[in-house]
Amino acid sequence: MSLEILTQIGGHEDVIQRFAHAWDTGEISPAMLLPMKGRIGTARLEEAVAGPRDVVSFLACGALRPALDAYFADCRSHLSDRLWVLGVCPFCGAPPGFADVTEGGQRRLACHMCGGSWVFPRLQCPFCGHQTAKDLVRLDAEEKEEGYFISACKQCHGYIKELDRRVRWNAGSALIEDWGSPHLDLVAVHAGYWRPIPSLIQLARGAG
Ligand SMILES: [Zn+2]
Ligand SMILES: [Zn+2]
Repeated sequence: MSLEILTQIGGHEDVIQRFAHAWDTGEISPAMLLPMKGRIGTARLEEAVAGPRDVVSFLACGALRPALDAYFADCRSHLSDRLWVLGVCPFCGAPPGFADVTEGGQRRLACHMCGGSWVFPRLQCPFCGHQTAKDLVRLDAEEKEEGYFISACKQCHGYIKELDRRVRWNAGSALIEDWGSPHLDLVAVHAGYWRPIPSLIQLARGAG
């Protein structure tokens, strides 16, 4: 699915081909695709694929997700609420790609890398841990859509898109909702914020 998305955005066919080739020849291994501190995948992965970091990260997520999702399936239930308070996935170590406000009003961060999720404080930046309310801002689309918003941090300038599922009870999965709301990424980027898991907007810009 991530390959289809990338192909639709266009401009990255050469990177996709090199990635597929390096994968087939064993030049890149699954371990090279895993999250590292501050990035997705190793430096050697970027060298092997010779593409923009955002595109390589996106491919690494797409390539590993089905395997990781199945791998962690049995241990998901062992993570009880509020047991994990860091802004990286307790299963695979990736930064969150989206956030859901659940029926019970909890903020649940979603991992695009392995499909995991975990409860996280609503008034804390998942990227730098900052908790000062005045530095945590909420951005909306120009034409505000109920239930969708952006949480941004003035300290580290990270942002994450959020969906209030109490309002949007029939919305799609975190990944689908993330990919389906590039206009919100534009709002955040225009306001000077960044996100660690590449957005479709970043990938499209990389192509241009
Ligand atoms: Zn994960
Ligand atoms: Zn922050």
